[in-house]
Amino acid sequence: MADQLIRAVAADGGIRVVGVTTTRLVDIARSRHGLSYVATAALGRAMTAGLLLVSSMKKPESRVNIRFKGSGPLGGLMVDAGLDGTVRGYVENPKAELPPNADGKLDVGAAIGKEGYVYVVRDVGVGYPYSSTVELVTGEIGDDLTHYLANSEQTPSALVLGVFVGADGVEAAGGLLLQVLPKAARDEALISQLESRLSSLTGFTPLLKSGKSLSQIIGELVGDMGLEMLPGSQLVQFSCKCDRARMLSALKLLGTEELADMIEVDQGAEAVCHFCNEVYRADSQELQGLLSDLRAEQASAQR
Ligand code: ZN
Repeated sequence: MADQLIRAVAADGGIRVVGVTTTRLVDIARSRHGLSYVATAALGRAMTAGLLLVSSMKKPESRVNIRFKGSGPLGGLMVDAGLDGTVRGYVENPKAELPPNADGKLDVGAAIGKEGYVYVVRDVGVGYPYSSTVELVTGEIGDDLTHYLANSEQTPSALVLGVFVGADGVEAAGGLLLQVLPKAARDEALISQLESRLSSLTGFTPLLKSGKSLSQIIGELVGDMGLEMLPGSQLVQFSCKCDRARMLSALKLLGTEELADMIEVDQGAEAVCHFCNEVYRADSQELQGLLSDLRAEQASAQR
């Protein structure tokens, strides 16, 4: 089934619920980047979170960028998610692998590392993007972004993320975001009820893996709290907006000497998109075109 995002409200609009399945798009990221098990789990959780975070924004062109920079072997990762349902991302050291943790789970916390930062940039499409930085809590992605939401957005929120990777690829992935909106933010009974429900939710991924739908899981969680599923689901997918012309023109940053050298010695060059790992190849003739462009730009700058 295609990956999708659904929305709901509960408690007279006091609680906002968003759920997303990301099994296919995480598997596409895994195969595009050749990700290890633990890198798949880390990037998968972060891409899922990106789609959930951007879902509360208003303008259609809105995007959220999430960057983790930690002390662990993955080095860091970057995710770019849009309200249009597209998401892309990469891991700095995609092959790094770690043994499972004491619970037998993929050790994302150790792979990201506990020392470091998470940077979140919200771009509404106009004016300056809004960015903020928080220190890592556990490196498990979900905890760190919950901490970010509490600190930077001051919205009591719970974020549940799960990625299950088997020998043949991603078997289940998805996430849930529950937010208590300002009208209910002082309702402490409601908040503590929600917290105890969430802590009793033993593993979101096993539920998804067992074949439960998102709306069933949300129903089990807050079905008796005046749950109202909002109509329509949104398709979400791995998608990158890089293109050949832009990627090749970035080769000009190497400078005239390097370009001339690539024409002489290598008879061509490659540009690789970080986000989707697509390889764009330029032959000598195209490089010659770039070199002439660059020389013309430099000549006109000197005038
Ligand atoms: Zn790309």
